[in-house]
Amino acid sequence: MPRSQTALEQCATRQWPCADDVAQRFVTLPHPGLAEEKHYQAVMRTLGFGVEFTDYMARASWEESAGWHDFKIKPYGPLSLDPAGAVLHYGQEVFEGLKAYRHADGSIWTFRPAYNAARLNMSNERLMIPQFPVEDFLGSLVGLVRADRRWVPQAAGATLYLRPFIFASEAFLGVRAAKRFEYGVVASPSGPYFAHGFTPINVWVERTHHRAGPGGMGNVKTGGNYAASFYAKSHAFERGYDEVLFLDAATNSRIEELGAMNVFVVMADGTVRTPALSGTILPGSTRSAILQLLDDDGVLTREEDIELAELWTGIENGEVVEMFSCGTAAAVVSIGSLTMGDKRVDLLGSAVAHRIYRELTDIQFGRVPDRFGWMYRLVEA
Ligand SMILES: *Cc1c(COP(=O)(O)O)cnc(C)c1O
Repeated sequence: MPRSQTALEQCATRQWPCADDVAQRFVTLPHPGLAEEKHYQAVMRTLGFGVEFTDYMARASWEESAGWHDFKIKPYGPLSLDPAGAVLHYGQEVFEGLKAYRHADGSIWTFRPAYNAARLNMSNERLMIPQFPVEDFLGSLVGLVRADRRWVPQAAGATLYLRPFIFASEAFLGVRAAKRFEYGVVASPSGPYFAHGFTPINVWVERTHHRAGPGGMGNVKTGGNYAASFYAKSHAFERGYDEVLFLDAATNSRIEELGAMNVFVVMADGTVRTPALSGTILPGSTRSAILQLLDDDGVLTREEDIELAELWTGIENGEVVEMFSCGTAAAVVSIGSLTMGDKRVDLLGSAVAHRIYRELTDIQFGRVPDRFGWMYRLVEA
């Protein structure tokens, strides 16, 4: 039986206006000083992740009287913010992450942008931030990538990472939702997320700290969830681990997410499992795409609670053969081991992760037909 679509997947599959129809929503301002050729060449040669930024950014503002207005593509640069700006005190902010991919013919595409737009609005709703129209979201990406097209890398596997965000800018210390917000999109030319490539990572199972709890904000993309995850992540990193596996806060017994990535478990009989979207797990676009790819490949998938104890025994006795995690930034990452206290189990398999990575990135980079209609063309060849 095919899975029923989530609300985000339904929004992603709707017919949205094409790039030319939304391109004029954001007005591109003249740039007084584009990055010099030497700097540009150096950045594109040494692609990191989220370190260097492009010439432009997208911007808009919200006020009660005007709604969202002042849609601009303008020179990248610092924002001015009142020290009493609400985001600095109460963390009222949301963000998104997606990528622009250059295809062999020179055209530039992004992956399921309406999914991200719908998720941004889900996050907005939870954090009492006004809704941002999907068409304006698309317009901001089109406008920005068209202005910044030279920053979309040619190199294999490299992309222009796009980071839309909204934060409360009202200067007010009273404890309530703000009445002034800023929208922005910045772009960062990026190489592969993990410096060591497709090497399986070593994961610390975190039993003391949680990134999200029932009724909290775990299912939306807000900075606070990341702030909550850094303590465990830093300590694991100091001990030589690459990532942290978070457990559910209610029972401390079920696996939820791997840092800021969704997690998958491959069984010896070929079934692939991932934790169900229980309310504390972020509904990843990559997670959703992988479930659809596996379905389409005839693989049995199950979204369900996954008990750590059962997972651990399964790895020990060979019922579990592989684990991997996924997200836009890294695409797919194979998991090589789990460590809990002084106990460690190793996972030797990575075949499904490799295959899914290939299938997904082949679609994203236009090497195979887009049979799901996931790609959105930002710039023509
Ligand atoms: C963004 C994010 C993911 C991955 O979502 P994608 O849409 O696949 O990039 C997973 N977990 C958390 C906590 C996230 O913030």
